Amino acid sequence: MSEPNNNEKQLILEIKDATLTYKSKNEEIRALEPINLNVYEEDFVCVLGPSGCGKSTLLKMIAGFEKPTSGEILLEGEKINGIDWHRGVVFQRDNLFEWFSVKDNVNYGLRMRKFPKKKIKEKTQAILKQVGLEEFADKKVYELSGGMRQRASIARTLINTPDIILMDEPFSALDALTREQMQDFLRALWMENKNTIFFITHDINEALVLGTRVVVLSKRPGRIIFDEKFDFTNKIYEEGTGRLKYTDEYFVARRKLYELISAQ
Ligand code: ADP
Ligand code: MG
Repeated sequence: MSEPNNNEKQLILEIKDATLTYKSKNEEIRALEPINLNVYEEDFVCVLGPSGCGKSTLLKMIAGFEKPTSGEILLEGEKINGIDWHRGVVFQRDNLFEWFSVKDNVNYGLRMRKFPKKKIKEKTQAILKQVGLEEFADKKVYELSGGMRQRASIARTLINTPDIILMDEPFSALDALTREQMQDFLRALWMENKNTIFFITHDINEALVLGTRVVVLSKRPGRIIFDEKFDFTNKIYEEGTGRLKYTDEYFVARRKLYELISAQ
C-alpha cells in the first residue's frame, strides 16, 4: 500500500519501521508492528483503529513518552529523544491544574521555559482570544464547561508553537453537540494557523470531517492497513455547513472505513 505523497509540502514527521513491545517481568505485549508513516506540514492526520490496537502507543512514541523497541522516529530530521516542546499533546481528559486560573494554565509552558514576562502576557492574550476564552482568563479551571476546558488545553499546547500537535481522542468525553462544536473550532484553528495535527479518534465521522488524511490501524499488534487523503474538511470549511456529511461520496467513504475496522 502506498501512502499519499505530498511532494510540495515539507516533511515534518518520519516514522521509520517503529515497533513497540511492552515488557514487564513475566510477559511481553507486542503493541505495534513496524509502522512507516511520513507526515507533512499542514497534514491533519486522523488515526482510526479498534480499541487496544496501539493508537495511543503510537502517539506516545511520537510524543517521546515511549521509546520505540526498534526503528526510529524523526521530527524535522532529528531523532525524537524524550519529551520536549516541539510536540504538543492534548488528551481526552485534559490535564489542567484545577487550582490555577485559565491564564496560568495556558502560559504554564512559557513560564517553565522562562520567557520574558511581557512576552508571556502578549502571547497568552493572543491565544486566549483565538480560542474564545479571553473573558475567562482569570477564572479557575473548575469553573469551566467540558468544551471550554478542552479549548484551554488546546491553547496551552498552541502557545508553545509546537511543530506538530498530537491529540488522543480529545473530544470523546464531550456530549454530542459540544463535540461537533469543538470539531468546527479545531478545523477553523487549523485553517488559520496551518498546524500539523496527528489526531486519534475512534469515531469514523470525526476522522472524515476533520482529516485531510485518514490512517487505519489493524487490531493489535497494530499495523497500517489504510492511508488515504480526504477533502471533506476543506469543503465543509468553504461551505460553512456540515451538509457534505449527507452526500453519496461521504457515505461511501464512511462505509469503506466501517467495513475495514469491523473486519478487524
Ligand atoms: P488504543 O489506544 O488503540 O486503544 P493502546 O495503545 O492504549 O491502544 O494499547 C495497545 C495495547 O498495549 C493494549 O493491548 C494495551 O493493553 C497494551 N498496553 C498499553 N500500555 C501498556 C503498558 N504501559 N504496559 C503494558 N501494556 C500496555
Ligand atoms: Mg487509546
